[in-house]
Amino acid sequence: MIPLVKPYMAPREELIPKIEEVLYSGYIAEGEAAWKFENNLRAFLGNPNTLAVQSGTAALHIALLLLNVGPGDEVISTPMTSEPTNTVIAITGARIVWGDINPNTGLLDPDSVRKKITERTKAIMLVHYAGMVCDMDRFNKISDETGIPVIEDAAHSLGAKYDGRVVGSNSRFTCFSFQAIKQLTTVDGGAIAFNNAEDVFPARKLRWFGLDKNVSRLDNDITRAGYKYGINNLTGVIGVVNLAHTQSVLDRYISNGKFYDAALRNVPGVTLVQYCPRTEPSYWLYTIKVSDREGFCKMMESKGIAASPLHHRSDTHSVFADSKCELPGMDEWYRSYVHIPCGWWVKDEDREAIVSAIKRGW
Ligand SMILES: *Cc1c(COP(=O)(O)O)cnc(C)c1O
Repeated sequence: MIPLVKPYMAPREELIPKIEEVLYSGYIAEGEAAWKFENNLRAFLGNPNTLAVQSGTAALHIALLLLNVGPGDEVISTPMTSEPTNTVIAITGARIVWGDINPNTGLLDPDSVRKKITERTKAIMLVHYAGMVCDMDRFNKISDETGIPVIEDAAHSLGAKYDGRVVGSNSRFTCFSFQAIKQLTTVDGGAIAFNNAEDVFPARKLRWFGLDKNVSRLDNDITRAGYKYGINNLTGVIGVVNLAHTQSVLDRYISNGKFYDAALRNVPGVTLVQYCPRTEPSYWLYTIKVSDREGFCKMMESKGIAASPLHHRSDTHSVFADSKCELPGMDEWYRSYVHIPCGWWVKDEDREAIVSAIKRGW
């Protein structure tokens, strides 16, 4: 079966000796390897104000904490995502207000978000779902006009671009995940990139119990309780070695994605997804809309190709019952969207077989 997701690990000969070195170095907590990963990530993102953290969820949590989001506040978010985007909002005590999805893009619709802004709106949470970048021209405008900060959940979209630059320096916060199945993995890990250098210091403290690492333990005074959200040297070294391959890994996702963009045009039963202006997806999952999705997935499976919608819409979970509202765009999208394999493991002959299977119909 050609899977939808698969972790990329650097070659054993390269990775294992480095892991051994760290494990027996006598220093496995946050140190040189962790800092090196963080620095290399800054270079990759072109943003020096980036911190490595324990997970994508931790990155999102830090963003919400820095905005002091809590009970009585509202965060406008998208139901079309992986659950942590929204569970992390729920744990702050804030109320989620669902924006609707544009059924042509699968992404949060700026017009819907604008209509849902109230005096309680503390943040707008965007997800660059499946590697496709939201309509940032319009979200930037909304944020500039209202002063409401945007958090970009870029867990699916490392290496995707807006305005010619990789995502990670547009909004006040951009959050990444290096969990097992993301384009870059450190087994578990994440990062938060800021476009405001002033957010870095308080974020560092929240990452480490509220302590200031520049001051000795004895001279420290915790003013706000923080978390254990940093990374260790093992995570760091895996990150350093895997990140060195990330551009070529991403290039393969992108090459496969562009191949499908061209090859699946005008295929009966298939509707391509539209990409927002001035954005370039990094195709974590290739997304299309199909008629008779169940039949489509069965046909693909019978040919050894995984195909599935993968994500459960967030708004139907009981924990978010308070936020329930009509979302016609989401309903429309949810009926027909599906993912097909697109990642680094999909070879030329695989993608050709995938296209011919689809062209033969279901
Ligand atoms: C994976 C993921 C996260 C959470 O990342 P973790 O590193 O698993 O905490 C958040 N948002 C989205 C959209 C994700 O896919």
